[in-house]
Amino acid sequence: MSTHLRHLITLQNMDASTIQHLLNRAESLREACAHGTRRIELLRGRTVLNLFFEPSTRTRTSFELAARRLGADVVNFDIAGSSTSKGETLLDTLHTLEAMHLDALIVRHRESGTPEFLVHHAASAVCVVNAGDGNHAHPTQGLLDALTIRQHRPNFNLLTVTICGDVLHSRVARSDVHALQALGARAIRLCGPRALLPDPSEFPGCTLHEDFDDAVEGSDVIIMLRLQKERMIATLLPDEAAYFERYGLTQERLRRSASGALVLHPGPINRGIEIASEVADGTQSRILEQVANGVFVRMAVLAELLAR
Ligand code: ASP
Repeated sequence: MSTHLRHLITLQNMDASTIQHLLNRAESLREACAHGTRRIELLRGRTVLNLFFEPSTRTRTSFELAARRLGADVVNFDIAGSSTSKGETLLDTLHTLEAMHLDALIVRHRESGTPEFLVHHAASAVCVVNAGDGNHAHPTQGLLDALTIRQHRPNFNLLTVTICGDVLHSRVARSDVHALQALGARAIRLCGPRALLPDPSEFPGCTLHEDFDDAVEGSDVIIMLRLQKERMIATLLPDEAAYFERYGLTQERLRRSASGALVLHPGPINRGIEIASEVADGTQSRILEQVANGVFVRMAVLAELLAR
């Protein structure tokens, strides 16, 4: 691996060899766990803190499992019961937590840039891992999506990937694009209603599409996104039935893609809005594999950052 990672904030500008190295590490951990190893004591004596200012099911649980499986102590910071809810500033929270000698801080926040801000203001050697900040980045999701794709389609140069939905507000789309471009994906199509498409200058090398039937045509991988209403300033959408009509992934639409195309979704899924149940639960769905891979990717990241 070319550079030693101190923190994981974004996949932007991460080179292919670093990404492949992390995916290989996740793969070896997966194999070790498949052979019955439940605990690999790489991080014994280290302390990891989950600091989630936004809701999370998969990411928080899988970071916790990942840290525990590596033998670390894990603390889940309860925002609702903390002094943050009494108005303590983020910096005061950071310095208070640092005084307790943490090794890693896994942070999710609605404001883009918060993990980076913590890196710049940390007084200790604590490693910061971004677990999703605003619409900016979700690097471990980008890595676990890349791993899931690589397990089925190892040659990225042959792949056409369509990412459909609320691309504008999606940190997942951004991290996926950074990973896929680094790994050499042949084509990346971003699709959604005009109001939810980003400025093309933010995504050089990708094509933008408003027509999902066109975008899905011949795709090898289709990544569906949730409508992130919590990040919309105004309602940018027609009603949900009309949205499903134009942008929902149905079995019929899936037939337009390349044979055996992979269907991914970072979750939480909204059945009947961006994806039909028969597709989400169908044979081409890789959604639960993504969840399983999430634990190994997060183990790989924590091991990389923290193992001495
Ligand atoms: N779970 C992902 C995220 O935190 C995707 C989503 O919420 O729609 O960004």
